[in-house]
This record gives sequence, structure tokens and C-alpha cells, in this order.
Amino acid sequence: MSAPVIMWFRQDLRLSDHPALAAAAAAGPVIPLFVLDDETAGDWRWGGASRWWLHRSLESLGASVPLVLRRGRADTVLAEVLKATGAKALYFTRDYAPWSPALEQRVKAVCEQAGAECHRYGGFLLHEPEAIRNGSGAFFKVYTPFSKACFAKGEPRAAKGPVKPTWATHTLERPALESLALLPTRPNWATGFEPVWRPGEAGAQARLVRFLDDGLHRYADGRDRPDQENTSQLSPHLHWGEISPHQVWQATRQAMDSAAGRLDRDGEKFLKEVLWREFSYHLVHHVPSFPETPFRPEFADFPWAMNDGALKRWQQGQTGYPIVDAGMRELWTTGIMHNRVRMIAASFLIKHLLLPWQEGERWFWDTLVDADIGNNAASWQWVAGCGADAAPYFRIFNPMLQGEKFDPNGEYVKRWVPELKDVPAASIHKPWEMTLPPKAYPSPMIDHNKARERALAAFAAIKKDEA
Ligand code: FAD
Repeated sequence: MSAPVIMWFRQDLRLSDHPALAAAAAAGPVIPLFVLDDETAGDWRWGGASRWWLHRSLESLGASVPLVLRRGRADTVLAEVLKATGAKALYFTRDYAPWSPALEQRVKAVCEQAGAECHRYGGFLLHEPEAIRNGSGAFFKVYTPFSKACFAKGEPRAAKGPVKPTWATHTLERPALESLALLPTRPNWATGFEPVWRPGEAGAQARLVRFLDDGLHRYADGRDRPDQENTSQLSPHLHWGEISPHQVWQATRQAMDSAAGRLDRDGEKFLKEVLWREFSYHLVHHVPSFPETPFRPEFADFPWAMNDGALKRWQQGQTGYPIVDAGMRELWTTGIMHNRVRMIAASFLIKHLLLPWQEGERWFWDTLVDADIGNNAASWQWVAGCGADAAPYFRIFNPMLQGEKFDPNGEYVKRWVPELKDVPAASIHKPWEMTLPPKAYPSPMIDHNKARERALAAFAAIKKDEA
């Protein structure tokens, strides 16, 4: 019997189109290992909603894979497992979080010490950060030329089928999933997640099929409508690697090909969104301070107005602006928020309340099932106007107009803000203008026009400092 190899699962919780697992399976009997490492990521250890998802995803993977589960610093755990099993090699998928390069170096050293080979594979992204460069060899700071460079690379490699490793026999203890204590205890705030999500590879594939059958054809025109289901909802599945971006890309291309041109506009738009994910990750890889520090240095001195009470009202969906509150309550109940509403709610926090974008980023980190170090950081900096290729700070979303445009009948608002269920569509995005506004719903915590002026003045202050 040949010596075993270790497959260290990370955000690649699937069996198909899995380069690291395929290589491990070809090298010998495989010990599948998952390590819950709350130390390496420090303040960015998984938030509550991510932990719920992770539990369910490991449960799903564990139904077909004899996972060995551990807690602790990944390099320390790997050293122990290498020693205990005499494994001849370690396989894993590359990760791009700011703390990952150092961790992966430590893991390499641990393998060397144990006399084991160390093999790292891609698979989380379509394009490695080193592979997409501008004419002068630097990374792209603007999305459009970045996406053009990705398209110019040609089609990503074809997605591969499921891997069927021979699982190694070993004497390692296999504690139950419950030992990781990932699920909420009391109160169980995740009851609203269960009916919405099916974590795991099968759930991811089902989502993709459903979207391509009934969603993609509405994507280009409908993706901004939170009252309708027009987007893929693949983000948590992509985040945990339950599906690879190659599988998503290839299946979309196949759907476009078989529609003989009818889906081209929708398909292109969708693939470009998938490339926003790549762009975000490349940024965070090249600028590891991205999750914490504004990319544009002038924003370091932005005159934020710290106010815990205001932050709480935003978090609890009690701002008095229906579209913002609907989004924040959708987030709390289901672990997700529609992209358009994320932009509106984020803009409200940063510009209406003048609260630092990092506060919103942290809240999303804890509450989103797709909380993602790349997409979350890049998107918050985008809305705040301080990121690479960001929306200009002075573009301040008007929550009433946004609501009227993207939730014209107020159906989204009524779904999440029951206090407004009897309000006619004409008033749903500004109920305070009604003769008798619903008593149970708060009036706006800040006047829109005043907030706008205050935000522009704050922005002018940093511009002046810069001049
Ligand atoms: P679709 O429209 O179906 O898009 C397909 C895939 O493309 C998504 O699953 C996602 O992986 C990627 N994608 C789509 N839009 C974006 C985008 N703007 N930026 C980067 N990738 C994108 N996305 C996350 O995955 N995790 C986060 O933590 C996250 N935080 C965000 C915070 C803010 C303030 C904002 C404005 C956006 C954030 N996004 C985040 C981006 C976006 O809102 C979600 O990716 C999207 O809503 C997921 O829904 P979907 O899968 O139906 O997307």
C-alpha cells in the first residue's frame, strides 16, 4: 500500500473540476482534511453567517468524503497530521486573502520539515493574479481594461468532471462536525437561512441549472430588480468553492451557444459580473491592506461622524428609508442582500450617516452568507469612492428614487418591512409624505437633502486638504 497524501480542503468544498484533488487522487490514497483556523485570519475569521454555511457545506461534503476535521492554526495542524500519518505529500488550492501568502509559506516549510512534497493548485479564480497585467506589467486598477484583458486571454480552461479518489485508511481521530461549533446556539438567528439555501456541491449545481434555465434570459435588463429573482445567487457557492468559476463560465457559454444568439447580451453581462469577482480578488492580492485601508490615500483623513446609535439603526433596518430597511432586514433574515440594495444600503451608511465604510464592511462580514474578503472589501471601497475604479464619492444615491426605479411596485419593500404592507405603491418609498403614515414604522432618521449637503461638504474638506 503506497503512503497516503493529504488533501487540505479550504474554500474548495467540491469534488468536480478540482485540480488539487485530482492531483492528490492520482498520487496515492487520500486523507481529506479540513481545518477551522480562527487564528490566522485574526479579526477576519469567519463571521456568524459564514459559519452557518460552512457547517452545512461540510455536512454535504462529508456525506461522500470521510473528512478529518480539526481546529487550530492550519500550519500547526498540518504538521501534526503529516507526522501522525507519514503522508508523502500535501495538496491544496491557492487562496488570495491577505494573510494567505504567509500561511502558505509556513505550510511549505512544515512539509519540508516532514519530508513531504507540497503542491499548490489554482481553481478558485479563472485567472491567477500574475497572469493579468497591463502594458507596463502592473496590475489593473480599472475594471474595463481588466475585463478586456481577461477576454483577450481566450476561454478559460475546460471544466473537468468529478474526481473519485481512493480514501486512505488511517488512525486519525474523526471528531463529529458538531465539535467545530459552527452553528448558532441561542438564539438561533439562522432559521430564516434554512428555507433559502442548499449549501454544498449539489445545491450549487442546482442553482446554476435553475439560473441558466430561467434567469439568464432576464439578466441584462432584470439584474437590478430586487423584487424579482433574476440573478444567479451563486455567490456563496462560489465563495466556498462548491462550484468553480470555470464550471459557471463553461455552462454559461454552452447555454449561450445553444440559444443561437438570443442569450448573447445576457450571457456577456453575466460573465462580466463573474469577472468583477476576479477583479476584486486581484486587487486584494496586490494590495493586501484593501480590506482595512482606503486605496486612495486622501480618504484616510475623511471626517467621519462616529455614532453608535446610528450604526445600530442601520444594522437593524430602522432608518426610516424603506428600501434601505428592506435590504438590512433581508440580510439579517436570509444572509443575503440583492446587489442593487447592497449599493443603496452601503451608500446610505457612508454618505447619509457619514459612518466609516469599514463599519458596514464588518457588519456584512458577520451577516452575509457570501461574505468574501475580496468582493466585500472591493465593493465597500467602490461605494465609498475610495477604491480602485470606484464610484465617485459625490454620486450619492437617493434612496427614494432608487426604490421607485428598481422596486416600482414596492413588492420588495413589503416583503421585508411588514409595517408598510398596506401603503400604496405611490408612497411606498416615502411613507412619511402620507397624510397618515403607518405608526409602527420610524420616520427618516436623517433628511435626505441635508445628509447630501453634509456628505458633499465632508468630501470637499478632503479635496481641499489634498490641494
Ligand atoms: P450575479 O449577478 O448572479 O453574479 C454572478 C457572480 O458574479 C456572483 O455570484 C459573484 O460571484 C460575482 N459578482 C456579481 N456582482 C459582483 C460585484 N459587484 N463584485 C464582485 N463580484 C460580483 N459579493 C460577494 O460575493 N461577497 C461579498 O461579501 C460581497 N459584498 C458586497 C458588498 C457591497 C457593499 C456590495 C455593493 C456588493 C457586494 N458583493 C459581494 C457583490 C455582489 O453584491 C454579490 O456578488 C451579488 O449580489 C451576488 O448575487 P448573485 O450571485 O445573484 O450575483
